[in-house]
Amino acid sequence: MVSRTDAVTRILFEAFSAAEVRLFYLLGYAAIAIFGYGVYVQIRKYRRGAALKLEGGLWARFGAMLSSVLSHRTIERRDRSAGGAHRLIFYGFVLLFAGTATITLEYDILEPLFGIRFWHGQFYLVFSLVLDIAGVALIAGLAFMMYRRGWMRLPKLDYARPDRVPGDPDFDRPQYRREDWAFLWILLIIACTGYVLEAARLVWLQDRADIWDTRWWSPVGALLAEGMRTAGLGERGAGLLRHGLWWFHGLIALLLIALIPFTKVKHIFTAAASLMVRDPLAAQRLPRIPDSQEQVGAARITDFNWKQLLNLDACTKCGRCHEACPARAVGAPLSPRDVILSLREFAKSTLESGVLPDAAELDIHGKAPGQVAMETLWSCRTCMACVEICPVAVEHVPIIVQMRRKLVEEGAMDPLLTKTLQTIHKTGNSFGESKRKRGAWSKALPFPVKDARKEPVDVLWFVGDYASFDPRNQKVSQVFASLLQEAGVNFGILYDGESNAGNDVRRVGEEGLYEVLATANVNALAGASFKSVVTTDPHSYNTIRNEYPDFGGKYEIEHYTTLAKRLFTEGRLQVTNPLKYRVTFHDPCHLGRFNKGYDAPRELLALLGCELVEMGRCKANSFCCGAGGGRIWVPDPVGAEKPAQNRMKEAAAIPGLEVYVVSCPKDLTMFEDALKTTGNEGKFVVKELIELIREAIPARRAEEVPA
Ligand code: SF4
Ligand code: SF4
Repeated sequence: MVSRTDAVTRILFEAFSAAEVRLFYLLGYAAIAIFGYGVYVQIRKYRRGAALKLEGGLWARFGAMLSSVLSHRTIERRDRSAGGAHRLIFYGFVLLFAGTATITLEYDILEPLFGIRFWHGQFYLVFSLVLDIAGVALIAGLAFMMYRRGWMRLPKLDYARPDRVPGDPDFDRPQYRREDWAFLWILLIIACTGYVLEAARLVWLQDRADIWDTRWWSPVGALLAEGMRTAGLGERGAGLLRHGLWWFHGLIALLLIALIPFTKVKHIFTAAASLMVRDPLAAQRLPRIPDSQEQVGAARITDFNWKQLLNLDACTKCGRCHEACPARAVGAPLSPRDVILSLREFAKSTLESGVLPDAAELDIHGKAPGQVAMETLWSCRTCMACVEICPVAVEHVPIIVQMRRKLVEEGAMDPLLTKTLQTIHKTGNSFGESKRKRGAWSKALPFPVKDARKEPVDVLWFVGDYASFDPRNQKVSQVFASLLQEAGVNFGILYDGESNAGNDVRRVGEEGLYEVLATANVNALAGASFKSVVTTDPHSYNTIRNEYPDFGGKYEIEHYTTLAKRLFTEGRLQVTNPLKYRVTFHDPCHLGRFNKGYDAPRELLALLGCELVEMGRCKANSFCCGAGGGRIWVPDPVGAEKPAQNRMKEAAAIPGLEVYVVSCPKDLTMFEDALKTTGNEGKFVVKELIELIREAIPARRAEEVPA
């Protein structure tokens, strides 16, 4: 005997004429065909990009992507409410989609072909309950997203571009807002009409005990059904309502399917794909120019590789990179979001047509819609804040540097930058000093610093340009050398064998010069005898650690903060004069975000007895000093706020701050300058962490220092 519960099942085409059913299938096939064509157009577009071979196994990549998507950890970072709302939408949508797909699977395939039926009885009822809850989650998530867009008016969701002025055709792109709202409304309408449809079906079939008696397995639909009955809706009226709504709901759902590849909805696929092809060292290790490539940099949209073209389509316009960008924060004509969106528009207009245009030239000198202007590209500090925060793994920095390579090739850059690059080419350093003077700072020390090319050392100290030639930083170098000496570290330097490490030269886009510098340093290091490398310069640290291996230079390298921490742990350095300073610490981009060196500086500050007060923007969210990407060699516009000044104001808001601590030579230069120009001189001081270590370990007299 079949119980009522066993008999209950999903009503599909009941009361539909055969012609209606045929029409629906026809429309369904048409929607799938349009979807398929759209997918083909997108894949063809990506395939028109340059070739790229990915590292790493496919399954490992798939697993990492799945973990990111299911956990939503990249979406909820620094925006928990948006992450929570997106999670509701995602899981609600996935469950509802799975429900619909399961019905189709049974109705169109399993039952007619194999006689298999499972969409009835207890399974159906439990699934109905799950889908009802999923619908509530979807609606709640959508409502919050609408509230966020419509009422919270978050600056990051404002599409006004810092590189355009009102009146420019693509200044604030109202079509983007329309698309965002249309997406939200379509999903909301599908979800809401699903409930009303369910309620109308219940009222229409209220005489069927298997349906009416089990109605509370669809609680929202049942509640609405009770409301409809109370409002006087009869079976006939409910039947008509159900019939009309069924078509409305079905047609909107088919429309959504058809439009996926052509609208924002495609991020469902492109974001997942982008996460899957993510390069964890995207900004840290820039790509070399293959020998086979004649073109330097990106002159045409097809000079970007397929992964970069996919990246453009993955952007959801969430604005997190726009918000994090230090250049945008100080009013520079750059938003990483808009760089991506401009290129996306350009790729769409040139690469989605059937015939590949002969020239899809990027006009990097112009401001035409869909183009990225030169000033925009030169505003970038390559600080990686955009790459780090992007929830869908868009890798802005390699894209920007690729376009810069073209600018450098054409000489389209600030004259001072041109001069600095020529100076580096000629002298091997950005100060234009003779190579022989590179180790001159060490002459003031009461002990000789070994030349690692002449005698073996345990630790090779790669000093870097600023710490070698800048007078203020030379003092810090002398202090660090004395600390190493007192700790009994057998260390040495390369003297005139060292050249500019090239990190910033590469990020400027001068790849040829970078290769010369990297090769020279790798050769010089090959001529020295050492066990490991240490550097006080995070920029040098990054390129030696992440990029020199591509040039045959693989070393055990660390930033001085981890070495110093170890010297304390081993008792080779001991605090004898605990500091009681109230300090804040600035994470250098190349130590923190680039290489995750967040802990050692903080542990050192704790060891020294300092009270650390974090700034709001710290660790991965640290705010660039403005020197990166070669910008230290380019003058900032007169009158405009500098990133370092912006940062200084943030630090100045800390009550009772005594020391602003840095651990990068460029930071010392940038922030000491900003301290003065923001009128904070005398309120607190900027110091290298090395200087604080010295203070906590008063220097031994010269005769006590080991020779
Ligand atoms: S790397 Fe930094 S400066 Fe450049 S676009 Fe990204 S956030 Fe802005
Ligand atoms: S690039 Fe990434 S972070 Fe920036 S707006 Fe697009 S999705 Fe958001």
